[in-house]
This record gives sequence, C-alpha cells and structure tokens, in this order.
Amino acid sequence: MSKSAPCPCSSGKSYAECCAPFHDRKRHAQEGEELVRSRYSAFALGKVDYLYDTLHEDHPDRRHAPDQIMAALRAASASFKYMGLTIIEAEPRDRDGYCRVLYLARLFRKGTDVSFIELAEFLHDGIGLRYRNGKTMDAPGMRVPPLDLAIATFQPS
Ligand SMILES: [Zn+2]
Repeated sequence: MSKSAPCPCSSGKSYAECCAPFHDRKRHAQEGEELVRSRYSAFALGKVDYLYDTLHEDHPDRRHAPDQIMAALRAASASFKYMGLTIIEAEPRDRDGYCRVLYLARLFRKGTDVSFIELAEFLHDGIGLRYRNGKTMDAPGMRVPPLDLAIATFQPS
C-alpha cells in the first residue's frame, strides 16, 4: 500500500507516519496503544510476520507450530473487512513492563458485522511490547463505544 495513504488503524495519520515504522521494524511498540494500532493495521495489510513477532511467547496461540500460527493469521487477516479502530482506554506500562488496552475493533466477515471490544494485555520483552492475552466482548453494530465503558467496568462475554 502507498505510504501516503491513510493508516488502516484510523489514527488520521498517513501509514508512513503511523504504523509503517513498526511493520518495517524501524520502531518497536513501547506503548500499548502503538501495539494495538500496529497489530490492527498489520491484520488489515496482511503483515502476518509482524503479527507473529508481536505475539508474546506466553500467548495461548504460541503452543502451535509457527507455520500453523502464520497460516491461521493469514486466513484471519484475509477474511475480514476493516472498518476502523477506537482506543477506549490505554494504561501506561508499569515497572514490570505490563499494560492493558481496551479498544473497539470494527470488522465485517462475509457481510456480517463481527466487531468486538477487547481488553488486551501486553508485556515488554526488552525490545518491545508483545501481546500476551486478551478478553473480548462481541459488539456487532457498535460504531462508538459507550461513554461509561472503561477498563474497570469492562465485562467480557
Ligand atoms: Zn496506524
């Protein structure tokens, strides 16, 4: 994709000024919001190597062989239409390198709205933040998150 095109993560910036440096490994996500944005845009652009590299070694998906994980990521990536991302709340990293981000991912699959809210957990591995785990709530048809929704009030489905 053109680097001057809008970034798929809905930041309002160009891809070059937003998620491309992460995908090109010129930068590594240091804040949870950077990892959520760069992973969402990596899904939208089919950058499965980046999705794999930013999975923490403790993530449940890592129990599968790397080529199986990559194939599953590639299939998932291609199956969605990407409608946008909204960061609801992002914690700063604590002294152990841990943080959480609550976000709304708007997606369609085969004409069905499969949007969801996720409370994702990240852990820094000395290079960058990695995706360790997440809890989701289905949010079909949601375009804007409820104003009272926060990490403290989130209830997974
Ligand atoms: Zn972006």
